[in-house]
Amino acid sequence: MFWKASTIGIRVSFAFILAFMTPTVLSMLRLTPLSRWIKFEKNVHAHKLVAYTLVSWVIVHVVISYHFFYTISRPTKGPDGSTQPPEMTFKELLFHTPRGITGHIMGISFVIIAITATPIVRRKAYEVFYYSHHLFIVILISMLVHVKVAIEFFPYLGAFIVIYATDRLYRAVRGYGGGAQVVRAIPHAGGVVELKFKAKMVHPLPGQFVRVCCPSVNPLQWHPFTLTSLPGQKDNIYSIHFKRVGGFTNKFAEKLGVQNAVNIVAKNTDGGNGSATTGSHSLDSNRGSSSSLFPSGRRSGANMPRIFVDGPYGAPTQHIFSYEVGVLVAGGIGITPFASALRHHLALSIAKSAPVRPTRLHLVWSIRSISALEWFSDLWGAYAQQDELLLDSVTLLVYCTNSLEAEQYGEVEMTSDDPWGSHQLTIDEQKQKQNLRFSIPRNMKIYVGRPSYARILSYIGQQYARTKIGVISCGPKPMNRSLRGQLRASSKSAKRVKSSFDFRAEHF
Ligand SMILES: Cc1cc2nc3c(=O)[nH]c(=O)nc-3n(C[C@H](O)[C@H](O)[C@H](O)COP(=O)(O)OP(=O)(O)OC[C@H]3O[C@@H](n4cnc5c(N)ncnc54)[C@H](O)[C@@H]3O)c2cc1C
Repeated sequence: MFWKASTIGIRVSFAFILAFMTPTVLSMLRLTPLSRWIKFEKNVHAHKLVAYTLVSWVIVHVVISYHFFYTISRPTKGPDGSTQPPEMTFKELLFHTPRGITGHIMGISFVIIAITATPIVRRKAYEVFYYSHHLFIVILISMLVHVKVAIEFFPYLGAFIVIYATDRLYRAVRGYGGGAQVVRAIPHAGGVVELKFKAKMVHPLPGQFVRVCCPSVNPLQWHPFTLTSLPGQKDNIYSIHFKRVGGFTNKFAEKLGVQNAVNIVAKNTDGGNGSATTGSHSLDSNRGSSSSLFPSGRRSGANMPRIFVDGPYGAPTQHIFSYEVGVLVAGGIGITPFASALRHHLALSIAKSAPVRPTRLHLVWSIRSISALEWFSDLWGAYAQQDELLLDSVTLLVYCTNSLEAEQYGEVEMTSDDPWGSHQLTIDEQKQKQNLRFSIPRNMKIYVGRPSYARILSYIGQQYARTKIGVISCGPKPMNRSLRGQLRASSKSAKRVKSSFDFRAEHF
């Protein structure tokens, strides 16, 4: 009975493991009403949970199979009481039969996959994790031989293998077949590079991401980056902002000709058209002033690398527009999905001359250095040009954790009754013109130190009675974890006014 249960358990788990790794299918499902109940961004988490279940069934199956092989390899007593030698020895059963051989191949493959999927390997050697995960193909083929009657295998797994293979093939054809053209690479402060490219994409939504491959870095490597431009570009020009953190991003920056720009900070920039405080800011980053900020940004040309772009893929931020009140919590480069969401929200509000859903939107962004603001200077510039009505609907809260650096930009004032923070920074106008060269909009407040999520969320919860507040976070795992904890505490006070939080998290 346990043996049968373990074989079914293995096949069903395998089917779900494949199903959770079909990003195109999941992106389509995200657009259906199912997304109200299912958080599709948890697919990797679900994949891992099912993987643990699979490993448990595999262990049960291996123990039972070894016991079974051992039993049938024992000498038996014949009807006349004589000892009958077994047809095969234990060793022969294990290593000379198709079942034994394929069983061992699968077992070893499972062990390699499990070891290389541990966080330490994944973080330090992503490639090792990625390629060794492909041993699942070896497992599937071995499984076909192992079960003897192939048809046994299909009712559980067949459909899922077809869905997975179709999804993967579609992504490969879309990615390698589409092509994309680099338009410009712009180095920003803190090792961030803004890449503008031309590509054909079907209806990207704010917050969605694409996978980028640069064949001259590695033709087999695809890296995910969030689109930061206004979605639905008529000229098919999109942008991503990526931070140089490791092998691919550094080599990619090098190929784009911005490898030495890591130390460029906003003060090195020359607005070209003079002070950005007076310069015109466009909401569309393609025409925005940021592209002219850096003379070292390279235009497309013969020496620009070829790239492939595959996407767009669904992400949690695209759901912020279904809430009446939204809170976007970002850590560092985790601002990228919210940049396009803010652009989209502002564009809709301008088109309608009124705030749109979410009618109240709060951005809570932690950055190490004030110069990080420059990554999206065009967006802040666009806000700076709006009237009070539109500005009232969006609060931009920025928390600079490097207090020494922040103090160089202006005056820090202690504020005891401010719900957003206790140390507010007022940027000195002169220093802003000299060092920042972009406008700080009136709805942006800058604080020194880390944000107190508990305080901020409790305040927001109290403010909007009888409201479901959407909270989306994007940042390092510890930040998301801390926010989730604080949210639980803040939910209690929000419940008193019948409001609640709906939390979604994304981490890079
Ligand atoms: C949905 C999504 C959206 C993202 N959007 C952005 C963005 O807008 N801007 C940005 O700067 N970063 C973004 N990232 C992170 C970005 O993909 C990684 O920083 C980049 O792949 C690192 O590659 P590397 O070789 O330079 O660094 P490495 O040092 O090799 O990797 C750093 C970390 O990135 C992860 N990683 C490495 N290679 C891959 C890969 N091929 N696929 C997925 N993860 C990988 C690993 O967890 C690793 O620990 C996003 C990640 C995801 C999952």
